[in-house]
Amino acid sequence: MHRGVGFALALAFVCGATNAATFEVREVARGVFVHEGRTVALDAPGHDDIANLGFVVGTRCVAVIDTGGSVKTGRALREAIASRTKVPICYVINTHVHVDHVLGNAAFRDAKPKFVGAATLPAAINASRAYFVEHYAADLDAPASGADIVAPDHTVEETETIDLGGRTLSLRAWPKAHTDSDLTVTVDDAHVLFAGDLLFVGRVPALDGSVIGWREAIDALSTSQAKIVVPGRGPVSSDVAAAFAPERRYLQALVDGVREEIATGKPIDDAIAHVGQSEKANWQLFDTANAHNVSIAYRELEWE
Ligand SMILES: [Zn+2]
Repeated sequence: MHRGVGFALALAFVCGATNAATFEVREVARGVFVHEGRTVALDAPGHDDIANLGFVVGTRCVAVIDTGGSVKTGRALREAIASRTKVPICYVINTHVHVDHVLGNAAFRDAKPKFVGAATLPAAINASRAYFVEHYAADLDAPASGADIVAPDHTVEETETIDLGGRTLSLRAWPKAHTDSDLTVTVDDAHVLFAGDLLFVGRVPALDGSVIGWREAIDALSTSQAKIVVPGRGPVSSDVAAAFAPERRYLQALVDGVREEIATGKPIDDAIAHVGQSEKANWQLFDTANAHNVSIAYRELEWE
C-alpha cells in the first residue's frame, strides 16, 4: 500500500474512533445523563455539537432532552443512550426552536417516540424550516430536506407531567424569553432542572425573544427547588441561584443600558456601540451576540 494512503486510512480510523469516543455523557444524578456541548461559534467547525443534551432513564421509558445541531450528533447521542440502557426511547423533548437543539431529531424518528415541545414550537419550526435547510444543509442527511426537520407531535401549553416508569418529568412552557418556544424539564425525584437556553453559563446569552420575559423566567427558575441545573450552554451546576446570577446581571445591564439610550434619544446603532460593554470581559463569544441582543432589546423596549 502507498504510504500516503495508509497514513490517510489510519488517520481516518483514528478520527472516526475519536469522534465516537469523545461524545461523552456524564451521569449527573441516578439515571440522568448530560452531554456538554463545545464552546465554538455557530459557523465554526464543531458547530453541530454546541448545545448541552441529555436523557433520563425510567423503568419503562427513556426521555431525550434536545438532540444536537446535526443528524450526526443525534445519532451519536442515540448510540450513547443504547450503550447505557435497553429501555426504549418514548419521548424526544425539545427545549426550543434553535438549530443546535433540534436538527438531531431525525436520528430518533425510527424509534417512534413522541416528539414533545412547547405549544408554540411547531409553528416556530415551520417558520425556520426553509432557513435551516438553506444554511445547515450539511448538518442534515443528503439530500437536505425540510421533511427531516422534525417538529413536535405532542405539545405543552403551560405544564405537563410525563411518567417514565418509576419517575416523572415536569415540563413547563414559558412566555417569550430566550425564544418564543422555551420549555424546561425537571426530573422530579432527582431535582435536576434542564433549563435549555434559558440558562447560558460562560457563553454570552443570545436573545431571540423578550429580554423582559427572560428576566422574569430567570427570577422564577433561580428560586426553584432544583438541586442541579443543566444549562443550554456551559457546565452543569449544583448551585442553581449562583448559576443564573451572571446571566441575570447581563440581561439587567441590557435593559438598563437600552432604556438609557432610548431616553436620551439615541438611535439603535449608538445603543449597539455602547450597551453591555461593561459585561464584555465576563463572557465568551461576546461581540457578535451582544450587538444582536442590544438590537432585539432596543426594538422591544422602544415601545414601553
Ligand atoms: Zn437557543
